[in-house]
Amino acid sequence: MIRNCTFSLIALFTLSICLGQQKEDTKNVNDSSTEQQEQQEQLRAMIIDSYRLFDEGKFRESLQNNINTIKKAEEAGDFVIAHAAYSYLGYDRLILEDTVSALKAFKKSYYYATKTRKTDLIADSYGDLAAVYIQNPKTYNKGIRFIENALEMYQTEGNLIGLQNSYYELATILFKRDDKEQFKQTLDSLTKYSLNSSLDERNKTLYHNLKAESHLKDNKIDDAIAVLIEAIDLGEADNRNDELEKSYRLYARALRSKENYILAYEMLSKYDSIYQINQKERSLSESKRIAAKFQVDEVQKDLDQAQLKTDLQAQKVQQRTLLNYMLIGVIVIGCAFIVSLIYIARKRKVFIESLEFKNIQVEKAKKEAERLSQVKSSFFSTVSHELRTPLYGVIGLTSILLEKNKDDENLQDLESLKFSADYLLALVNDVLQLNKIDSSKELDNNNEVFSIASLMENIISSFEYIRVQNNNEIKVKYDSKLPQLIKGNSILLSQVLMNLLGNACKFTEDGTIFIEIKVIKVDEAITLEFFITDTGQGIAENKINQIFEEFAQGESKNFSYQGTGLGLAIVKRLLHSTGSEIRVESEVGKGSTFSFQMNFEVVENSKPYDAQNEHTSLIYDIQKLDGCKILVVEDNKINQMVTRKILEKDNVHCKVAENGLIAVEMIRTGQYELVLMDVNMPVMDGLEATREIRTFSKIPIIALTAVELEEMREQIYSCGMDDIIVKPYDIRSFQQTIMRHLPGVESSLSRSTEFQNRIK
Ligand code: ADP
Repeated sequence: MIRNCTFSLIALFTLSICLGQQKEDTKNVNDSSTEQQEQQEQLRAMIIDSYRLFDEGKFRESLQNNINTIKKAEEAGDFVIAHAAYSYLGYDRLILEDTVSALKAFKKSYYYATKTRKTDLIADSYGDLAAVYIQNPKTYNKGIRFIENALEMYQTEGNLIGLQNSYYELATILFKRDDKEQFKQTLDSLTKYSLNSSLDERNKTLYHNLKAESHLKDNKIDDAIAVLIEAIDLGEADNRNDELEKSYRLYARALRSKENYILAYEMLSKYDSIYQINQKERSLSESKRIAAKFQVDEVQKDLDQAQLKTDLQAQKVQQRTLLNYMLIGVIVIGCAFIVSLIYIARKRKVFIESLEFKNIQVEKAKKEAERLSQVKSSFFSTVSHELRTPLYGVIGLTSILLEKNKDDENLQDLESLKFSADYLLALVNDVLQLNKIDSSKELDNNNEVFSIASLMENIISSFEYIRVQNNNEIKVKYDSKLPQLIKGNSILLSQVLMNLLGNACKFTEDGTIFIEIKVIKVDEAITLEFFITDTGQGIAENKINQIFEEFAQGESKNFSYQGTGLGLAIVKRLLHSTGSEIRVESEVGKGSTFSFQMNFEVVENSKPYDAQNEHTSLIYDIQKLDGCKILVVEDNKINQMVTRKILEKDNVHCKVAENGLIAVEMIRTGQYELVLMDVNMPVMDGLEATREIRTFSKIPIIALTAVELEEMREQIYSCGMDDIIVKPYDIRSFQQTIMRHLPGVESSLSRSTEFQNRIK
């Protein structure tokens, strides 16, 4: 009978100790309320009741009572009672042959035992679990392991009852398994603890019966008889029918083996009468058990239903909680989203505000830059005018003096003076030009139809003087595919070519300068490549990269060499502004080739250039000026004198007008072949005067100006002037320009033959 399982007895024993201890603890705690004490008392009473009910075979009541106790103990957080109630519930289940539920209950009991941290209670739980597994021979091993765990713990605690009972259970199983070796060891241990007279008498009887059984198995009949006599004595003394039944049965068997049939029969009779009593009790208990099982099934159904309900509710609560969490989550995310939206909106606002502020600042800065640029541009315009006007006087007068006093002792000084003045003018022009490239967009805007050949002739003619002086020959070769007219930035092209040709003339003596223009590509646009080759001094390889830097100058063999070191820097920047670049190949002593490419627009219906491969310079004979009537319109007295003297030297009949108004009148009344018109003048400026003259005369008018050309070009041409000479000028170029416009002189050139008379 399970109830007789020794583990339940151990549990009761340990429990009573724990409960006593718990009672003491509660008393000692000053602040524990009487309500709490009452609750503990009640729980204690319930658990003791449970044991009683079980003992009386009232299994259903015991089970119900244990369930109630568990509930209350769990509510009160009483782990000791919860452990005990689950343990009892396990035995209830076990007796009702529900091993699975029993195991569950014992595991719960073990859980609460660990919560109490009481080793005895944990060991008890191991015993409980072993009780389940030793029900089935297949799980003996598991049961044995649990018993061994329990033994270990009882050993440390010195729990003799625990040790005695555990060893007894272990020995019983080992005996059943016929594990002789282990059984013997276990029995020895059991003997050790069973001999202690202070221990439970029932256990002693059990021990003796087991020992006798073992002796009988080993055929040690006398030893068995001796042990059984002792067992019967103990059983009779304590009225233990369960154990006595077995003792008498074994004793009768032993006596029969000894052929003591009379005593054997007597013992068998005793066995039979005790068996009858026990059997009655057993059937009663069994019927109770069966009834209880049925009732318990009903209880279980209710319990299952209640559990189902609770589970359902718990599930609902769980679902609701989940839903709540989700809702909270959504709200939190929503809030975070709104907050971030507000944050972003604010940031955006601040950003927009700062952007607006910056925009205003940029706008201001832009206006300021534009204003400064205007100031700068008007400053340059003024500076160029103010610098060139006196230079005109200096250079002009020096030139006249040089012409007049060729044998004078001051000739050398005059030459030095002319050299310095020329240099100063070149420097002023170059610096102004560089600044203009940096700040101006006007060069880009120039886009006009022009003839490359005419442009080349003009440029070449302006270097006639230096060409003759250095005894050079200039040859031009045009590509046969080159159209007569193209459209593009002719001014920029002239500036580049003049610098390169000027250098070629300067650094070549007794040599040849070739200019070649090749057509690289023609589709919607036309790409031309220009080569300026000379047979001059050349450039050392290590200097080639430096010559394009500002103020970079090489050595020159030519004594009369003049240069600012800015020419190639200007060329580089000008070409760069069109997306092109300058290339150079050179060898010292052999010469140099500078080349670059430029794009132009194709002019529709433009005939191909009339191939005239060899260029013959178009230089007019100075004789043509002889007897010519020219009106010089100029307000500056020195300049009046300079221009007049230069012209009169070539026998030109020269008249001077102080301002535009006087000039108009003089042209209306007088006979002139050409007018040299200053632009800035008091009373009436050159532009207005020209407009007036054009109402009644076609006389050639050439602007003679010191103003910065870029600003004025458009106005000068649109008012009706024919050409421009920038002061100060190179006398020969000056003469050539005048002759080109004199009536009766044939010219294949385009309307404007303007060039800047830079002195190279
Ligand atoms: P510069 O006013 O001195 O001519 P550039 O910038 O035009 O200034 O030229 C820089 C230097 O490059 C010159 O001083 C010269 O040494 C060298 N150079 C330029 N062109 C030639 C050339 N055709 N032959 C030899 N050397 C040249």
